[in-house]
Amino acid sequence: MFRARVFLSLTAEASIDPDTQQRAKEYQRRKRVVSWTSSILLLVFLLAAYTTGLSTALAEALTSRWGFWGSSISYFALLFVIAMVLRAPFDYKDDFLIEKEYGFSTQTPAGWAKDLLKGWVLNFIILGIAALFTFWALQAIPKLWWLVVGLGYVVLVVVLGQLFPVLILPIFYKLRPLENHPLQEKIEQFLQKGGLRAQGIYEMAASEKTTKENAMLAGLGQTKRVILFDTLLRNRTPDEVEVVVAHEVGHSYHRHTWTLIFSQALLFLLTLFVLDLIMVQIEPRFAPEQRTLSTILAVLPLMLVVFSALSFLFKPLTLFMSRHCERQADTFALETTGKPQALIRFWVDMARRQLSDAYPHPLIKLFYYSHPPLSERIALAERWAHSKGGVTS
Ligand SMILES: [Zn+2]
Repeated sequence: MFRARVFLSLTAEASIDPDTQQRAKEYQRRKRVVSWTSSILLLVFLLAAYTTGLSTALAEALTSRWGFWGSSISYFALLFVIAMVLRAPFDYKDDFLIEKEYGFSTQTPAGWAKDLLKGWVLNFIILGIAALFTFWALQAIPKLWWLVVGLGYVVLVVVLGQLFPVLILPIFYKLRPLENHPLQEKIEQFLQKGGLRAQGIYEMAASEKTTKENAMLAGLGQTKRVILFDTLLRNRTPDEVEVVVAHEVGHSYHRHTWTLIFSQALLFLLTLFVLDLIMVQIEPRFAPEQRTLSTILAVLPLMLVVFSALSFLFKPLTLFMSRHCERQADTFALETTGKPQALIRFWVDMARRQLSDAYPHPLIKLFYYSHPPLSERIALAERWAHSKGGVTS
């Protein structure tokens, strides 16, 4: 147990009971094993396609028949379908079977499969646009392709960020503006403080799919809004809903969406830059002078493997930034509501009912935690309460 740096009050510590924490660790570990197996299988497939010359043969066959559009689209489509089919059994295990086993999923197998297909279509469109743009840049701007693709990424993320709550999320969940809620007036005061429109709060019918409770700040500019799971509204006390809303408004107040877009874009640019350096070293056909659409498609599986490895290595930086934002939002929630007890109650219950591992191994935190572990969040709220001279039990 890695508790050395975190001191919780006896009450909070006692409430995070060791048995459920053991179950939480097991739940999280099983999900990680499934996702790792699926990723490794995909990487092995990509390496095999590259080393056996399959990707070269395919690239040559396609480009000798068709031009840029025909070859690029058919190559991408084939790779996409193979990747999704390889992943599907693991997704089923991770998103459906394990979630059912631990009592979270409320979906039927058919409902789950429908969501999977919707996800495939959506990803096919988004990744397809990104792939075609990258193929074009690799060929048209052979030395600075990474810079152009990096900038293209920012445009895509901003557009998707705007569309997410109004076009993408409604494909999966029913959403409606929160109306006549007992906390309406209070919530609207918060929203104004965080630079959100008074009507910027929505209820999402999450209970059709899960028993988990959550909230998020979604969208950019005109589409920015706080979205609350109906499970949260149903099961939480008004005080707890209030602090959760205040946390989300804190993200808006501190402009975290832009902070994260900007920092991730920089990191993505760095990843592409290093990818370019490595590829030029290890694959002669990637040299700017040699590059044609045929060589790009031939070496693409290798590019994807190197890209995945680099993304994994850089992931802790993104997560570190995200955890920093989460701490700021937690502090904002404490300052605006003055209700540390409600936050602590909510988090203790998250550890218990949603099987969140409150004391993860430092390496797990480094590579997986976009939010500080609950033990640290509780400790933050307790320190805040102590600094105000309050009682935290
Ligand atoms: Zn947050």
